[in-house]
This record gives sequence, structure tokens and C-alpha cells, in this order.
Amino acid sequence: HQENIAKYNAYLNTFIDLADPKQIQEQAESASQRWKSNQSKSPLDGTVMGYKMNLCTKELRTTCCSPMLDNFQAPYTATAIQLLEDAGVIMGGKVNMDEFGMGSYNTFTNVGPAKNPHNVLGKDTAALDQGEDRSPGGSSGGSAAAVASNMCFAALGSDTGGSVRLPASYCGVVGFKPSYGRISRWGLVAYASSLDTVGILAKSVDNTKLIYDTMAKEDPKDSTCLTSKQRQAIAEAIKVSPVSAEQNPQHPLSGVRIGIPQEFNIAELSPATRSRWRKGIQVLKDAGATVVPVSIPTTKLAVGAYFTLATAEASSNLQRYDGTRYGHQSNEVDEKEDLYSHTRSEGFGKEVKRRILLGTYVLTSGSFDNFFLRAQKIRQMIRDDFDAIFARPNAITGSIGSVVQSADIEETDAKVHALLSPCSVTTAPRLQDCVGDHIDPINAYMDDILTIPASLAGIPAMSVPFGICAEDGHPVGLQVMAQYGDEEMVFRVGRILE
Ligand code: GLN
Repeated sequence: HQENIAKYNAYLNTFIDLADPKQIQEQAESASQRWKSNQSKSPLDGTVMGYKMNLCTKELRTTCCSPMLDNFQAPYTATAIQLLEDAGVIMGGKVNMDEFGMGSYNTFTNVGPAKNPHNVLGKDTAALDQGEDRSPGGSSGGSAAAVASNMCFAALGSDTGGSVRLPASYCGVVGFKPSYGRISRWGLVAYASSLDTVGILAKSVDNTKLIYDTMAKEDPKDSTCLTSKQRQAIAEAIKVSPVSAEQNPQHPLSGVRIGIPQEFNIAELSPATRSRWRKGIQVLKDAGATVVPVSIPTTKLAVGAYFTLATAEASSNLQRYDGTRYGHQSNEVDEKEDLYSHTRSEGFGKEVKRRILLGTYVLTSGSFDNFFLRAQKIRQMIRDDFDAIFARPNAITGSIGSVVQSADIEETDAKVHALLSPCSVTTAPRLQDCVGDHIDPINAYMDDILTIPASLAGIPAMSVPFGICAEDGHPVGLQVMAQYGDEEMVFRVGRILE
């Protein structure tokens, strides 16, 4: 890891703060002693991971890549990271991101974007044409770039509307967002609390699952984190629709039904991406799965609903940065009102300000019903759409969508265990096309169209690297989604694709 950091970090701008190499060395040596004496703490003991700058750690800064928190050192460590540390994981450092998680290309950061390693690895960085540099995706761009360039074994990111899956897709690594509530958000700096999840970026589905299993635990510090009892109930509910667990090496997915959501086949999809999607369908069929078309009619409303809800929640969450408690404080003036506005004008970047304005607007009394409430209704419709096509019931609501529940749920072909779609509309764009006037914010928001539906529904979703785009030689990711709480199905299908 250290070697790759020395070789590439300056160019890729991935790790912003690095842990002390001597300390890493010592921790790695103790772990290897434990392995030798059969006393390893877990299968992850001694691995090095990178953490997104919005996850609190007692050591190193937690800046959210915002001028507002540039000097912020958290007084505690996020639960998710604490659980990894208890399992012997070593912190390699903190990585680049879009400010507060708002963005899709890692260009909204106070330290300059991380770069996509795909065209960089194995090359002399001094000889590279910087104009050709690609975006690693965002907002967890640093996490994806760190894993893709082997600077760490795996990384944590956060996924509110696709921020783990999109960068994973652009960089050619696995990116997993669990069901909402599976992993504690305590110590994850809030962007949009009803959508925020801690996600994992790793080189393989199996490594992702190891890390997920370590972190997916009850946490009394986060009231939206599932209790052990709820986790039990979910496990029971999922059994309602059994799939043969038959160990058939030729057909590992026999009995599994995969839905292809028709509305995800949008016109903007590049032909090369569409052709990878078709290939993915074939691979799942060859593994014994039944593949059927399904419909999620509300897909086209998802982006509008997401940006209404996410900005509304962000405008509320970001009120805490007022210059009086922690973070940046303007020294321009000392009148209270002036202090707030100076602090916030100086401390937030352009995109964050845009979102705060949008979010404040949709929450004002004149537009609350028209925007915020309507978006909440659309969110519910999206949940219903997903529930209607999944064979397994939603363990939280018991809902099977708009379909009337009969005594034993009839499992027609139209009911599926998992969904397969592309993860991004195109491969990684050039960084220079994602800055300034080259990109219109609305177009940027539309790039999240394939990842947002799963976020609004709270269901688990994973981007699995699936080969290279025939047009530009860049990685393509396919997205696997499943019913709320059915992480195991996502892993099962994901393994076949990798
Ligand atoms: N690109 C989306 C946004 O800007 C997703 C961000 C995220 O998941 N944190 O809101």
C-alpha cells in the first residue's frame, strides 16, 4: 500500500490526510504476530482501509472537503469505523470527496479533485496529458480511486443518492450501499439523513461482504439503525420467498428470478453501456437465473423527488455551521447576524450554497405542499413500485406494493428476487468537462438517475465492475438491487457478475 501511495497519491490526489506510516507499520506487525499465533481478531485483521473525509475519526481531520471544516478534528470515531478497528483494521488515512457529499465527479472539493486511476496506473505520471484525466466519480471519488489504485485494501464511502456506486462504476471496483439502517450513521456527517448510508468500496464482492458483516450491527447511538430484533425479523421475512440453495456449480442462480427494469433503459445510455448490460443478462441466464422484464413506472420522477428531499434535508442539517460552535468562523465582523452570513459565505462552496438555497426554498411555507410534500408522495410511490415487483415482502412495512396480498404469495414470473441495470449513464467523463461552465447542474443531477431509485426506496444496491466499454476502454459497472434487507441476494448475484 505504502508503495502505491508514494507512487500515485501526489498525482491522483486521493488521500488528503495520511496516517503515520510508522504507526501503520507497527499495527501491521502486531496483526501479523496475531495471525502467526492463531489469535487474529478477524479475517480483516491487519488490512489497511481508507475513510471518506465525512466519517469522524479521533485521529486525523474530518473536513468533509469543505473550507467550513478544514481544521475540524472530531472528538470521537464513527461506529462503523470503530467496529472495523475492533476487527483489527488499520486506518491508512482520509480520502477526497465532494464537499459534504454533494456532487457526482469529485470536482466540488476544497483540495482539488481526485483523479480516476484507470489511465494512470503503471504509467509515468509526469508524462501524462492532464487534459485527458478522467473523473473518479463522486462524491466518494477518493474512496474509489484509493481502492482502484491499490493504495488500500478497501475504503468506506457514503451513499445518499449514488455516491458509492457511481465512483465504483467509473473506477472499476465494487461499490455497495446496504439497506438504509443496516450500518450505523453515528459519526457520519449528515447530508440528507433519511437517505444517508455508509457504503463500502472494495476489490471483490467477498471482501465487500466481509466488511459489511463487520459493520452491520445494532447501535443505540443511531435511532435509525436497525435493532438486533428487527434484523431477526427481516431474516424471517426474507425466507417467505425461498430460492433453492442447491449447490449447483453449473447453475448457481437456479431458481433466482432477475428483473430488468425497463425504465432504466433511458435514451441517454451509451450504446456500449447498453451492450454490457445485455452481456450481464446473458451471464446471469447462463448461471441458471430466469430473467424477465419488469416496470418501475415512477423511475422518471425519482431525480426530481430526490433533489427536492435531499436539498431540503441538507438545508436543515447544514444550519449547524454557524461559526459559533466549531468549524470556520469569519473574523470579518462581530455582530451576530453578520457573523452567521460571513461565516457561511466564506465556509461553503458554490454547490453547497446552491443546495442550501434550493432546500430552503422547497421548505418555505409557500412551496412546502407543492414541492416537499409532493416529493414525499413520489418517494412512497417508488417504494410501492419496488415492493410490487419483488417476490420477497418488505420486512419493515410488510407491503407487497399495489398487489393484493393473498394467503400464500403467488410467485409469478413478474415477481423477482433481484434487479439488474447499468450503474451509470456513461463511463467516467473527463475532469475538464465537469468543471465550470462545461457542466450544467441539471445535467449533473440527471447522471444520478440510475442510482437514485434504490436510495429513495432504501434498498440494498451494488455496482459490480463488468468489463470495459468498447468505445473508450473505460470500466463499466452493472448495478444489482434487491428487496429491503436482502443484502445476501445482492452478494449472490454480484458474485456471478464479477
Ligand atoms: N450525486 C448525488 C448528489 O449530489 C449523490 C450524492 C451522494 O450520494 N452523497 O446528491
